[in-house]
Order: sequence, then C-alpha cells, then structure tokens
Amino acid sequence: MLKELVFATNNAHKVEEVTHAVGTQFKILSLKDIGFDDEIEETGTTFKENASIKTNFIYKKYKRNCFGDDSGLEIEALNGEPGVFSARYAGEHGNHEANTARVLDQLQNVKNRKAQFKTVISLILEGKEYWFEGIVPGTIRTVKAGKQGFGYDPIFQPDGYEVTFAEMPLSEKNKISHRGKAMAKLIDFLKS
Ligand code: IMP
Repeated sequence: MLKELVFATNNAHKVEEVTHAVGTQFKILSLKDIGFDDEIEETGTTFKENASIKTNFIYKKYKRNCFGDDSGLEIEALNGEPGVFSARYAGEHGNHEANTARVLDQLQNVKNRKAQFKTVISLILEGKEYWFEGIVPGTIRTVKAGKQGFGYDPIFQPDGYEVTFAEMPLSEKNKISHRGKAMAKLIDFLKS
C-alpha cells in the first residue's frame, strides 16, 4: 500500500485541507517537507496543464510519487474569468483581498451571479500520469461574509446552501468543495 505522497504545493491551507480529507491512510508531504522552497511557475492556459506542470517538474527532480492541483473560480458572466488567473486576478499573486474586491467590482449591477470552483489534480504514480476533476457550482454574493478558508471563500455561496464557504467549518467545506471532490476521486483511485 502506498503511504507517502508529495503534494506539489507550499500552500499551508491546502495541505491542511487535504491532510484532513485523507485521514490516516496516507502521509502527505509538502514541497517544504522534501526540501523544495521555490515556486513552480504556472505557465499553462488550463487548470489541467498547470497541475501537470507541477507534478512533472517534481517527478523529474525527485523521482517521488506526487500529485498537484490547480484550481480557480470561473464566473459565467465574466466568460470564465478569473479562471487560471484566480490567484493573480488583481495583479499581485495571492492578494486575496484585492482579487475578491476586483470580482465584486466586475460584477456590480450584474444579475447573473453564477460561478463554479474547479480543481484538476494530476497524479504521477510510478511514472504514469492520471487526472481527477472536481467542480462545485454556486453564486457570487454582493458582499463578503465569513472568516474561514481563503481566497474567494467569503464571496462564494455553494448551490443548496445559505452560507458562503467562509462561513462553513473546514470539514463541511471539504465534503462539498471542488478540491474535496477531486481529492475523493484521487483517494478512491489510490485505494483501488
Ligand atoms: P490553487 O491553484 O488551488 O492555488 O488556486 C488558485 C487560486 O484560486 C487561489 O489563489 C484562490 O484565489 C482561488 N481558489 C482556489 N481554491 C479556492 C478555495 O477553495 N477557496 C477560495 N479560493 C480558491
């Protein structure tokens, strides 16, 4: 049984979410854990391409089984934006406040608030690559609500709920989130 898997990320929030989701069956190592501190440049034009760039880079360098994800928010009225630009929608990489503010600004007076979060995971296992996808549909609020999570969580309300991702406990979000769904597929695959 496979035990150790490198998660090609240095995002502590994501490592926490995934570690929570996999339970005790797998030991998840971050890039930091294997001594890699740099950023891997995401130059792809799709989530799938970006996920593959990360895992292929790590596999070539360390020859370790690994997975990597790329996610983002796709807003219908903005033709799928911010998409692969989700982390840097307002310019500076990872400025969640500014990114969220830009989305709210772009959607001012826009009636169609439909959006989805999407994750694509690339897994490289013994040199062979596999992909897993997770989508969560929802709507964009007009003002922020909640303090949990990260990124666009305070403005994203998943369908079927009256609260935003940022108002849910992490365990709830994991059950229905894009990353949670893609991870569940990955875990099913690893267990089979
Ligand atoms: P990543 O590829 O998972 O790092 O996601 C890229 C960007 O998409 C993040 O920097 C966030 O802006 C946004 N994003 C991805 N997943 C989430 C989430 O679960 N909540 C809120 N924002 C997210």
